[in-house]
Amino acid sequence: MAQTTPAGDAIPVGISACLMGEQVRYNGGHKRSRYCLEVLQECFAFEPFCPELEAGLGVPREPIRLVGAPGEPPRVVGTVNPELDVSERLEEVGQAFVARHRHLRGFILMKGSPSCGLERVKVYHEHGMPSHADSGIFVRVMRELFPELPLEEEGRMSDAVLRENFITRVFAFDDWKRSVENEPDYHALIQFHSRQKYLLMAHHVEAYRELGHFLGSGAHAQPLEAAKAHYLRRFMQALSRPATRKTHTNALMHVLGYLKQALDSEVKQDLLQAVEEYRLGHVNLVVPLRLINHYVKRHGSDYIRQQTYLDPHPYELALRNTI
Ligand code: SF4
Repeated sequence: MAQTTPAGDAIPVGISACLMGEQVRYNGGHKRSRYCLEVLQECFAFEPFCPELEAGLGVPREPIRLVGAPGEPPRVVGTVNPELDVSERLEEVGQAFVARHRHLRGFILMKGSPSCGLERVKVYHEHGMPSHADSGIFVRVMRELFPELPLEEEGRMSDAVLRENFITRVFAFDDWKRSVENEPDYHALIQFHSRQKYLLMAHHVEAYRELGHFLGSGAHAQPLEAAKAHYLRRFMQALSRPATRKTHTNALMHVLGYLKQALDSEVKQDLLQAVEEYRLGHVNLVVPLRLINHYVKRHGSDYIRQQTYLDPHPYELALRNTI
């Protein structure tokens, strides 16, 4: 199924407001992201949010940091005045944000922030040096209350695999929101699994088997909403594991299996050669996929043509040219 984002139908994605160029940082500055504003804004409708501003900390403001011992949730306190403890305020801001933003398909975060940092945010001993690392408090609340929401740091998206993985998750979650979330029967869930099968296989072959088994036997014994919640949690968790050359090769070989009868041996040999060159790292994923897509469009069954794996996000983002 080709992924497109028709005008006026862009996908809602949250973003740390400073990445949009808003001057909301503690020092009145911003961290404008060219990639988000010039590339991703073509398909995402960004909804900027600054948890510290929302908590009433003002601009400029005293910088804050995480403080605590390993193994316990860190507090968020002032760097100059440690008596300034804004942990509860920021937690409440996060809870209210999640309650009002269930429509989002992802969130892009600013690295290193005690509020927005996804990981590796320094946590300090009470009166001293950094001791370990954790997530920012806003991220902790989102993970707890909205665990299926795809999260990524803007800085990590300079890594081609992480970038492709995040955008794949956003588009898959968007598919879920549009075609399964509000549907009152199992049919939509089964159809979703059917078209996401090879994408799931490329990311997590165990989850692919487990969820297939779940839908084939266990799901109908549960109320629909419980079955959907279970499926979605596991599906999004599985997609968050980036696919590798090995796992993509496995998925490509399965797709090729559907074309076997329709192609002559010379074409089959060309396709196998393209997959092998990809496996060996001589070409990027776009090479075998374009070839396979060409033949799937002409000879594939409806089942294989609808696979999101063949076209999980807009081609213009060129994400598979780099992995
Ligand atoms: S990192 Fe988060 S809290 Fe800090 S300025 Fe940016 S949006 Fe606001």
